[in-house]
Amino acid sequence: HNLVKHFPIKSGVLQRTIGHVKAVDGVSFNIKRGETFGLVGESGCGKTTIGRTILRLTEPTGGEAIINGVDIFKMKRSNLRPLRPKIQMIFQDPYSSLDPRMPVGEIIGEAVREHNIVPKSDYRDYIIKVMKDCGLRPYYIDRYPHEFSGGQRQRICIARALALNPDLIVADEPVSALDVSIQAQVINLMKDLQRERGLTYLFISHDLSVVEHISDNVGVMYLGSLVEMAPKKEIFRTPMHPYTKALLSAVPIPNPNIKMNRTILEGDIPSPANPPSGCKFHTRCPHAMEICKTQAPKFKDYGKNHKAACHLFDQN
Ligand code: SF4
Repeated sequence: HNLVKHFPIKSGVLQRTIGHVKAVDGVSFNIKRGETFGLVGESGCGKTTIGRTILRLTEPTGGEAIINGVDIFKMKRSNLRPLRPKIQMIFQDPYSSLDPRMPVGEIIGEAVREHNIVPKSDYRDYIIKVMKDCGLRPYYIDRYPHEFSGGQRQRICIARALALNPDLIVADEPVSALDVSIQAQVINLMKDLQRERGLTYLFISHDLSVVEHISDNVGVMYLGSLVEMAPKKEIFRTPMHPYTKALLSAVPIPNPNIKMNRTILEGDIPSPANPPSGCKFHTRCPHAMEICKTQAPKFKDYGKNHKAACHLFDQN
């Protein structure tokens, strides 16, 4: 709720703070147990920072993160340890997120042992069971990461997270580094595991077609703020915000007979250290009006849990 993360910009020998990068600027959303919230936006919009902050890998500047009724931002770092297994993260790059010197069994089992998830005597059987659940063969247990393909490595990363019986998994671009044919396999695995174990996902991606496949609700971010949020069907069938429409129009359609009205966004994303006044999207928005340059639109509910921040809808 109202999550804020500003990074100081330091300068000079004395490392004085000369400004702040407003990576996340007051973002609020809820995820129901057993559901997936897809967070989308271009790189640099703050979605990864949200994921890292929820895990306290990055300390928040402000806001609350209430998980199972507990605000984890208020907890002392020393008290976070028992909660760690319950919130896990899957990273984008399955190549760099696995220690090349560890066999798979050790990669998956290290934290299992540390958090006493199962008795010592059951340890190996437990790891093999988790591996099987993630589509990995039991004899892989003694092999090393370099012996596996990208898709298999991401399965190992999923198994490592799953072995701790988490409630919430923050998946940060978990399939972006994989071939398209492998992406579907990993997404389907995540969906199956969610169904079987009641997992809750915060799924972060720049790829709308992937998000559509796995999410129940979707939030669209631009320059540190949510500009639209709705149930998946609403976002994909009746998008409201011009930025969401532009993102959707860029998704390829595998049918040459369908003509797309593509919206090409002009210019680069402005710097989050010096965001535009008013609506932060006004420098690139094809519908920008005078009011957009000076007044930030409110993030309002327009019915059916469909929220958006745009002056276009205040005019009606
Ligand atoms: Fe475009 Fe104005 Fe809406 Fe911002 S508020 S998205 S600039 S129309």
